[in-house]
Amino acid sequence: MYLYNSLSHKKELFTPRDPEYVRMYTCGPTVYHYAHIGNLRTYIMEDVLEKSLRYMGYGVKRVMNITDVGHLSSDADTGEDKMLKGAAREHKTVMQVAKFYTDAFFADCDKLNIKRPDVVEPATNCIPEYIHMVQTLLDKGYAYFAGGNVYFDTSKLEKYYVFNDHDEEDLAVGVREGVEEDTNKRNKNDFVLWFTKSKFEDQALKWDSPWGVGYPGWHIECSCISMKHLGEYLDIHCGGIDNAFPHHTNEIAQSESYLGHPWCHYWFHVHHLNTDNGKMSKSKGEFLTVSLLQDKGYDPMAYRYFCLQSHYRRNLVFSWENLDNAAGAYEKLIGKIAALKQDGEVDMAVYEKLKEKFLGALNGDLNTSLAVTALYDVLKEKTNDATKLYTLADFDKVVSLNLISGAEALRKKQAEEEAANADPEIDALVAARTQAKKEKNFAEADRIRDQLKAMGVEIIDTPQGAKWRKV
Ligand code: AMP
Ligand code: ZN
Repeated sequence: MYLYNSLSHKKELFTPRDPEYVRMYTCGPTVYHYAHIGNLRTYIMEDVLEKSLRYMGYGVKRVMNITDVGHLSSDADTGEDKMLKGAAREHKTVMQVAKFYTDAFFADCDKLNIKRPDVVEPATNCIPEYIHMVQTLLDKGYAYFAGGNVYFDTSKLEKYYVFNDHDEEDLAVGVREGVEEDTNKRNKNDFVLWFTKSKFEDQALKWDSPWGVGYPGWHIECSCISMKHLGEYLDIHCGGIDNAFPHHTNEIAQSESYLGHPWCHYWFHVHHLNTDNGKMSKSKGEFLTVSLLQDKGYDPMAYRYFCLQSHYRRNLVFSWENLDNAAGAYEKLIGKIAALKQDGEVDMAVYEKLKEKFLGALNGDLNTSLAVTALYDVLKEKTNDATKLYTLADFDKVVSLNLISGAEALRKKQAEEEAANADPEIDALVAARTQAKKEKNFAEADRIRDQLKAMGVEIIDTPQGAKWRKV
């Protein structure tokens, strides 16, 4: 599989360290609010990546953190802890807020067919691991203690801006972002590994440490949780593009300084879902959730389809019109699948040919829009329905669009509607008209049609025979 690696700035052949086993890490949600559909775009694309790897035959162990402490209002170590803000907003404890929004996050993931990672670890579970890493960084001279906090010393690194597609000034914006300088920092990009002093002394969760009672910085959790479950070498690390700096940059700085060797080979960044007003953001307060889409009558699968139609390395603009188009296309697709019948043996040669194209799309830097096109290629293929159904069920292991279960549900709904509308008298007239047509008695056929019309019934001639509906 060829994947774009943000670290090397090019597409690379994906080769995990262990040829058959992929160690995959995903930055999880900060659980102080609902996930918005932008966050979920990132999780959908990561889900497709994981499922593609499994489809290609790799074993995958995927780990995700839940940020329930340490993520401050600014990514650059200033402001209030986001969890505290959530607790104050809802008059609850931080742990209540964390539990509520963690559950809400996974409920949204279920609706969108996003598989739960193999390991999900809340940041508050791993305090001893953070203390150990911070102590080691101090011992090795990569960290210093100042004004009550432990900082990572970025001047100790040969190269700090590892993702520098941009120039250093651009990247530093995240640090400047309208906040006053922390005078304890020796260098502008130094970041906090452990806080004991904060302007916000009402921090709810604190732990004892060699540096005083306090709490971890945001970045340390992902390094430690990843190493706890995946060891010293990580194959692929995923997240939204906004995490590249400072979060992932800092993760790399501290992990490699701690380990003394390179840490993660591939970095997979999903670009943003934007609205007309720019990036969708939780902290702005107004954002779209999956439940809101459902309230407006959208099937969550329509949103998944919408995301798959565009490449993960392009910004995606959300508008109701764009979502309507995706919802319409998805509905039509399911309608076409619902019309397929189990009509015989699967032609494995045809399946293999179709699969090659589908795999080609995934192999080309996870081109999900081509993978969606491959679904239509299946429908257009000159083969029996059984082969089409078999192939679509197979592709759905990756795209997870409920292709088969959605079609079954639609067929059931159609049958129920037909049963609810059943009318033996009309059925008999329709059958008599069909018979008259067969006997080329067109005058009689027309007479019956007019009689039905007078009863408010319209006949629809379909390849499967005459159907009727009340008008
Ligand atoms: P958070 O819960 O804020 O820690 O973010 C969870 C994930 O969503 C991270 O991987 C972010 O990079 C990603 N993310 C945040 N905003 C957006 C957006 N507008 N579009 C896509 N992904 C996003
Ligand atoms: Zn992270």
